[in-house]
Amino acid sequence: MKFNPANNIQDLQYFGEFGGVNPSISDSSTYTFLSAKTMFDTFEGNADGCYLYSRHSSPSNLYLGEALAAMEGTETANVSASGMGAITPVLLQLCKSGDHIVSSRTIYGGTYAFLKNFTPRFQIETSFVDITKLDMVEAAITPNTKVLYCEAVSNPLLEVADIAGLSKIAKKHNIQLVVDNTFSPLSIAPAKLGADIVIHSLTKFINGSSDTVGGVVCGTQAFIDQLRNVNDGASMLLGSTMDSLRAASVLKNLRTLHIRMKQHSENAAYLAEMFEKDGLKTVYPGLASHPSHKLFKSMMNEDYGFGGMLTVDVGSIDKANELMELMQKRNLGYLAVSLGFYKTLFSAPGTSTSSEIPEDEQAAMGLTDGLIRFSVGLDNDIKRTYAIMRECMEALNILKPELV
Ligand code: PLP
Repeated sequence: MKFNPANNIQDLQYFGEFGGVNPSISDSSTYTFLSAKTMFDTFEGNADGCYLYSRHSSPSNLYLGEALAAMEGTETANVSASGMGAITPVLLQLCKSGDHIVSSRTIYGGTYAFLKNFTPRFQIETSFVDITKLDMVEAAITPNTKVLYCEAVSNPLLEVADIAGLSKIAKKHNIQLVVDNTFSPLSIAPAKLGADIVIHSLTKFINGSSDTVGGVVCGTQAFIDQLRNVNDGASMLLGSTMDSLRAASVLKNLRTLHIRMKQHSENAAYLAEMFEKDGLKTVYPGLASHPSHKLFKSMMNEDYGFGGMLTVDVGSIDKANELMELMQKRNLGYLAVSLGFYKTLFSAPGTSTSSEIPEDEQAAMGLTDGLIRFSVGLDNDIKRTYAIMRECMEALNILKPELV
C-alpha cells in the first residue's frame, strides 16, 4: 500500500490513564522503582518500558516521538526542546574531531552558523555545496566525510534536494544522509526516499500555532538509542529536552497537520501563480518555472501539495520593508520570522533568518536584498487576500506600470 504519513499518524491509538481520549501527561521529572536492581538495569539501558528521568525520556515525549516516527516512516524518534536542539546533537553524535561534513549551502541560518562557526572549534569542518548539483556534492566528499546534510526544501531559497540521488551517493561512500524536512512535512517523506535521519523544527508547520519551539530526530532505534545513551549520547548529555506538557500540546496539534498543510499549499499555490502573472520574480516549487518542479513532483505525496512557503523579489530591501509594513497594517499577516502559523508571516531573510550568512556568500547563493519570504497562512478567502496584497503593491509601485 502507498505510504501515507497522515494515515500512519491517525492509526495510532493512545488512551489516558482513566480512559481519556488523550494520553495522560507525565508531569514528573523523575520516576520511582520497586527494586534497586531495576533502577540499575534502566541506567544500563536494559529495562524496557521503565522511565528513569525525564531528560532521558518520558511517556509524553515518547508518544509524540512515536507519532512523528509514524509520519516519517522511521523506526523511532526523539523529540527535543527546539529544532536546533535536534540538529546539533545529531551532528555531534555522528562526527568527532577530524571529521568532515558536506552540507547544502542554502540552509537555515542557525544551522549554517553552527557548521561554519561552531563545529570548527571541535575540528569538524564543513564544505558547503550547491545541493542541486549531484556531481559537485560527490566531488566534495573526502575520506573523512561522515555526513551529507541538506534541507528537503531549503530555507529560504526553496531549493529542492534530490533525496534519492543524494542517498545513492551517501550509500556509495558509507556516510549518513541527514535531511531537515521542516519546510515540507507530509508532502515529502525523506526516509522513504533513502535518508538515514530526518529532522524537523516542530516550531513551524507541525505545531502550527507559534506558541512554542520544539524539534525531533527520526531514525533507526539504534541511532536514537545512541543519542539517548547516558554515557555518551549527545541528546542526553547536551540536555535539550522537551517538556512533557509541551509534548502533549504538540501531539494534539499534529492531529490537524494534514488539513492545515492542504490549506497552506492551496493558498500558497494561488498567490504564487498570481504574483508570477503580475510579473514578480516568484519562487514556489509548485510553479512550472521552478527549476526543481518536476523533481518535487516525483518525490511528493500529492495529497498535501507543494507546501506553504514562497518567495518574491521586490527589487530592494527598502521596497521589501515598505511592502511588509503595509501588508501588516492592512492585517494580511505579520512581519515576523518563523513559519507555519495560521496567519501569513513575512520577513526579508537577508536581514533576518539568514543574516548569519555573510553578505558575499548570500550573493553567491542568490539570496538577494529584495527577497521576501512568505509563510502563507490558512486564510479562508485567499482571493480577497491577494486583492488587498495587490493594492499594497500598486500603492508602492512594485508592480510594473503596464500591469497595474
Ligand atoms: N530548520 C529549519 C529549516 C528552520 O527554518 C529552523 C528555524 O527557523 C530550524 C531548523 C531551527 O528550529 P528551531 O528554531 O525550532 O530551533
